[in-house]
Amino acid sequence: LFVVFEGGEGAGKSTQLAALAERLGEQGRDVVVTREPGATAVGERIRSLVLETEGVEAPSPRAEALLYAADRAHHVATVVRPALARGAVVISDRYVDSSLAYQGAGRTLPVQEVSWLSSWATGGLKPDLVVLLDVDPHTGLSRVESRSHGADRLEAESIAFHERVRYAFLDLAAADPKRYLVLDASRPPEQIAEAVAHRVEELLTD
Ligand code: C5P
Repeated sequence: LFVVFEGGEGAGKSTQLAALAERLGEQGRDVVVTREPGATAVGERIRSLVLETEGVEAPSPRAEALLYAADRAHHVATVVRPALARGAVVISDRYVDSSLAYQGAGRTLPVQEVSWLSSWATGGLKPDLVVLLDVDPHTGLSRVESRSHGADRLEAESIAFHERVRYAFLDLAAADPKRYLVLDASRPPEQIAEAVAHRVEELLTD
């Protein structure tokens, strides 16, 4: 089973991902927790190219899209597919939808082209479930700013950018409702965790 968590900044993906992993682990399941970008040694280097841009040149939008796609291609080939093949539950912090939302809607690259690029990178591997933690950018960004790291880079993007990202995620979910679980990220974390666990358990017993 391949489960992906998506959402804007400060949506609480990491908390929810950890809660789900813990729960499945307690049931004795083989669980692999992973993320994009940066789950592998190659991915770590790509992550720093795209995200650690303070004082250095940031990649142009198309270069950025290719770098995320390269991270994803390597991640799928070396982590996700092998784990799924042995029957593990793979839980990834971000996947293809992040590229459609950030590189497509956010950076205004043609979404269809970004989608082709991701399909090529992944060999067409789709998640069984995407948990979308929907958050208003004002709320999300203020949550992130209250942590110490990453705030400067995020402030570089306008609220409009983050609004485009948010609505791109919601549109993707609306277009394929069976594959998505959309949750309001402002709900109490325990309630969100319950809803996620419920849906995942349904899929595991199907
Ligand atoms: O999820 P996490 O906070 O680790 O993501 C790091 C950053 O990478 C996010 O702030 C997001 O802006 C950016 N990102 C992106 N495009 C992707 C994946 C992540 O712009 N495809």
